Amino acid sequence: MSGEDAQHEQQGSAEHRCQERMVLVAHLRRCGIESERVLAAIARIPRERFIPTALSSQAYYDEPLPIGLGQTVSQPTIVAQMTEALELTGTETVLEIGTGSGYQTAVLACLCAKVISIERHEALSREAAARLEDLGVRNAFLHVADGTLGWPAEAPYDAILATGSLPDVPEALLSQLAINGGILVGPVGSRALQHLVAVRRSGVGYTRRTLGGCRFVPLIGKAGWDDEESGAS
Ligand code: SAH
Repeated sequence: MSGEDAQHEQQGSAEHRCQERMVLVAHLRRCGIESERVLAAIARIPRERFIPTALSSQAYYDEPLPIGLGQTVSQPTIVAQMTEALELTGTETVLEIGTGSGYQTAVLACLCAKVISIERHEALSREAAARLEDLGVRNAFLHVADGTLGWPAEAPYDAILATGSLPDVPEALLSQLAINGGILVGPVGSRALQHLVAVRRSGVGYTRRTLGGCRFVPLIGKAGWDDEESGAS
């Protein structure tokens, strides 16, 4: 193939990807996602860059996909629903627990001032960092640690997103939420099944609402689950 042909093919596939993203965005609207900012971020981030090449034809299916080490990137409707629930306006500092592929990190980075993302697997964190660098994401900072304890060094956070399941909302995370309107979103429940909860902090305490059933891979850690038995997201 000549250089020119290769370039045409690449542009063709870039156009095709762009169309697939638009179809996904239309689907997300039908599923009830209303935030134009969230939809625009999903329209912008190439999900195929965050999954194994062998699965790239499935990049825009509304399904979770494996990313290695038994982990998964969540399905787009869940990513959109969780992101929308954080009510980001662009000025926030956000803590993400469970960097995984870095896809959700990239979506968040479009919507706030700064993302701190914690991952317990060094290899996943390293790969995610390379992808984010490639895409020119400059406002996401990755660390390898047990994120169930949060990341006190940069607290308080305007938003905290747990992208793996928790038996309950850890006290450590609640204490790292900004007092005036900080929002935490994450899947809470049993190892097998959870519901998404959104907790808002105010001067007088916390209010909690439930967003619906879901099934996520577990967060393994001091305030999470204590073994490697797997779930799916
Ligand atoms: N947000 C990710 C999906 C992550 S799946 C994406 O968009 O691809 C959940 C991730 O949480 C997995 O990568 C898993 O390794 C990680 N994880 C599990 N326990 C953790 C812990 N205690 N602290 C940080 N990350 C954890």
